[in-house]
Amino acid sequence: MSYFSIRSVSKAFGDQKALKGFSTELQKGNILAIVGESGSGKSTLLRIMAGLEVQSSGEVWLGEQKILNPKQKLVAGYDEIKLIHQDYALFPNSTVEENISRPLLSFDENYAKKRVEELISLLRLEPLRNKLPRQLSGGQQQKVAIAKAMSVEPEILLLDEPFSSLDSIQTRDLMDELKEVFTALGTTVILVTHDLDHALRLTDNLLILRNGKTIQKGDSQDLCLRPKSKYVAKLFSSINRIEPKGNEYVRPVDVRLRTRNGILAHVSDVRFLVHFNSLKVKIKESGEIWEVDDPERKYQIGDRVYLNWQKEKVLTLKS
Ligand code: ADP
Ligand code: MG
Repeated sequence: MSYFSIRSVSKAFGDQKALKGFSTELQKGNILAIVGESGSGKSTLLRIMAGLEVQSSGEVWLGEQKILNPKQKLVAGYDEIKLIHQDYALFPNSTVEENISRPLLSFDENYAKKRVEELISLLRLEPLRNKLPRQLSGGQQQKVAIAKAMSVEPEILLLDEPFSSLDSIQTRDLMDELKEVFTALGTTVILVTHDLDHALRLTDNLLILRNGKTIQKGDSQDLCLRPKSKYVAKLFSSINRIEPKGNEYVRPVDVRLRTRNGILAHVSDVRFLVHFNSLKVKIKESGEIWEVDDPERKYQIGDRVYLNWQKEKVLTLKS
């Protein structure tokens, strides 16, 4: 039996359907990332998971316990399920240590102390212990907010785009640390994000949500190598259609550039990116523009190139 399960959950706001029979299951300690564009239903889904929103139909279960929605329960929400947003939800006039220990006021004092020290050490917050939130960077504040949410040992941590207001270096550092901590503590986590990169940094376990429905789930490598639809393929990189109107595609990284033999094209644009140059090339015969990677940074605008690829790299995709 699974530990946390969402069973055929639907939600409509008027005639707007935000979720359409969504189901998924997690085992204890699993980390799942749900990736979907803005408006795909991510926040609604997390609020229903946390018992903070009334669903139109379907059920949420945590072990043997059915999660009741605000219509069914006097005080909405559960201590076992913590939802964290982009805003940091810290007490502005309390130190880092005080913020983390506040949710533990009614707990045994020794236990509370031990738990706070554990979180401070795991999240490397020692140097910040006596600082106020305004003295911290955005990444540090979010880390403290997560430590605060974790102080009461929730069973499930739900993260709703918690990194949206952080810059990419802050996010990368924070995600690496969080991954370590979640694994060390065996926390069950669901992250929702529009940013595939954030998802990949936290876990291999992905679910792609579109218009309130799962369109594909699996491990990240599987989704990247065997996407079923154009939509999923394009989350990982752009794709080039091999035949006009066909359903076979090849990724820029899988196109080999040669000085002879292959499909003739001319370089029309060169962009310097961190790991390679990204080229736009115009195919002589069809006039189509393809995007291809030039890892050796060899080609210039106007150069003639011949395009090749291995058969195994061809993706067959429905639109
Ligand atoms: P995401 O978090 O992926 O951006 P949301 O769950 O916020 O998506 O929204 C999904 C859909 O439901 C959107 O079309 C949104 O406009 C609609 N929606 C969300 N909350 C409400 C609400 N309280 N009232 C009406 N429509 C809503
Ligand atoms: Mg949202």
